[in-house]
Amino acid sequence: MTMNKSGIYIHIPFCLRKCPYCDFYSLSLNESCAEDYVNALVSHIGSYKGKSISVDSVYFGGGTPTSLPAKLLVRVLDAVNDAFCVDDDCEITVEANPCTVDYEYLHELRNAGFNRISFGVQSACDNELEALGRLHSFDEAKNAVLTARSTGFENISCDLMIGVIGQTQDSLCKSIDELVKLPINHISAYMLKIEEGTPYDCDAVRKALFDDDVQADMYLLAVAELERKGFVQYEISNFCKGGKRSRHNMKYWKLDDYIGFGPSAHSFFGGKRFFYSRDLEGYIKDPLSTLEIEDENPDKLIEYTMLSLRLCDGLDVGHFKKLGGDVSRLEKLASDLCFSKLATYNEGILRLTPNGFLVSNSVISRVLNI
Ligand code: SF4
Repeated sequence: MTMNKSGIYIHIPFCLRKCPYCDFYSLSLNESCAEDYVNALVSHIGSYKGKSISVDSVYFGGGTPTSLPAKLLVRVLDAVNDAFCVDDDCEITVEANPCTVDYEYLHELRNAGFNRISFGVQSACDNELEALGRLHSFDEAKNAVLTARSTGFENISCDLMIGVIGQTQDSLCKSIDELVKLPINHISAYMLKIEEGTPYDCDAVRKALFDDDVQADMYLLAVAELERKGFVQYEISNFCKGGKRSRHNMKYWKLDDYIGFGPSAHSFFGGKRFFYSRDLEGYIKDPLSTLEIEDENPDKLIEYTMLSLRLCDGLDVGHFKKLGGDVSRLEKLASDLCFSKLATYNEGILRLTPNGFLVSNSVISRVLNI
């Protein structure tokens, strides 16, 4: 029997400047606090030493991991290598903001073992980048990607934002055209959402954004264009070339184990879901004082249904049944969904189409009768 290996997530809660639409937990970078934080992370990670946990993906997310000096990220990665049994071919990803990296910086990360990088590019149009409050221009983003490639990163992902203020169908296609020309093999395409409590959460922005129908059309256009350019969709928002799915993110959707470190980092480990609260100071003093249990005993049927329907691999009806799902209800629903072109149903696998992904929440409620 092969054992599923764990993923490790490290949250770096610092950014050079907060983007107005973002509700990830991140604060302005303060260098002395950053050192204290890395010390806390290293000792927290070290507490797993001796548990013989095998790891095949490590992901540094944020925030902006690359707002820290490279040597601090390398210290954290060294701590992971020391505490866990890390596979030789482990996927080691770092999220990067294009304006925070140069050749020396990327070279240092690559030499230390980072082998995948995910850039928050968002758009190839500078007016859209400005509307998003981003600090980089598209030229800077392009240079960052090319530099990463020249330092030996073969797995490069870029984020693309759909539904930005000022975006048109033409400018979205232009962004996709420009991104696919770069030496990358993964694109995450997210629809802009207004998150509560962010500067974007105001009437002026709400009025300037597309309504849901236009947003949905833009999403379908992006899916079609990306597929046309060889980026195969494997999840609602994720596309890859050459089968290079994000191994780490697949763990979230396949219900594999992952252990998160840092404030706001979530874990699914030993059958439990837990996280560390959004409290940097508390985490620096004592990570365990900020630990919160989210769910001691998550409902496997609900989680499997919700997560498998995000993936193009779809929901396996045999497994759904094994978890106690109502198969006759599911099959009736599957034929309605297929008729409305929201899903396909072949050989016991229910897969949502891109149109189905747009209404996945209501499909999931109907599947589970909740
Ligand atoms: S750089 Fe990323 S994490 Fe930081 S504020 Fe902007 S979107 Fe959020």
